[in-house]
Amino acid sequence: ALSIRGVRKSFGDNQILKGVSLEAAPGEFIALVGPSGCGKSTLLRILAGLETADCGEIVVAGQDISGVRAADRNIAMVFQSYALYPHLSAAQNIAVPLVMRRLTRAQRLPMLGPLIPGQRKAVAAIKRDVREMAASLKIDHLLDRKPGQMSGGQRQRVALGRAMVRRPAIFLMDEPLSNLDANLRVHARGEIVELHRRAGVPTVYVTHDQAEALSMADRVAVMIGGALLQLAPPQVIYDDPQHVEVAKFIGQPR
Ligand code: ATP
Ligand code: MG
Repeated sequence: ALSIRGVRKSFGDNQILKGVSLEAAPGEFIALVGPSGCGKSTLLRILAGLETADCGEIVVAGQDISGVRAADRNIAMVFQSYALYPHLSAAQNIAVPLVMRRLTRAQRLPMLGPLIPGQRKAVAAIKRDVREMAASLKIDHLLDRKPGQMSGGQRQRVALGRAMVRRPAIFLMDEPLSNLDANLRVHARGEIVELHRRAGVPTVYVTHDQAEALSMADRVAVMIGGALLQLAPPQVIYDDPQHVEVAKFIGQPR
């Protein structure tokens, strides 16, 4: 489970996060919504270790990880831009997190070229895990392509594969579908929910699309001006907003 306790963050004189607390149950899907600039990405970046909080705790499986380096957190994050390595194939992109964890420094470089002794078994295991991930995302046929040779939706699946292949303890997504056209987006929602269900890890999913929050999430967290004003199942948020600001935001025509 994931628990965020009293996280605060300022940039200069600007207080961006004003004491954010949130508990996610194992396997829970939480959609984080709120107006542009309210601090959603900042909160995710702090969880991933890409930014440090001024104070507060981030507890994963009973352990405060606030001081743990990003690389050691076992938290996966997918960005809006996907941020794939353009010079690597889909298979190599998905393999990167496994290569970094399972191969020694000296073994990593040849991963892209001829094998060196002692590496064969580890590489075979990595290739098997990549193929399994690709099969579950239905991108087996794309494994040899580079990002420039794939559609937006295909790149998005490779990015999901790269995030999930190392079986993270927490899954974070920051508007991962906003670059896709409307049709593809509806289809991708289902895929993400399915991937999440199979992984069974707490997930925080930032979106500005209320239909996404409503259809995908177990609970919706509404953040306004750096404070979490309401955290409740989608239906409750819509039926019974607890703050005027929440009602205003949720009620906005889009
Ligand atoms: P959006 O929906 O537009 O993505 P957001 O809720 O993700 O918005 P954040 O990116 O978290 O918003 O930014 C919150 C506020 O913090 C903004 O006012 C932003 O300008 C500011 N901010 C974010 N990162 C920094 C930084 N590194 N230095 C200074 N200010 C920052
Ligand atoms: Mg953002």
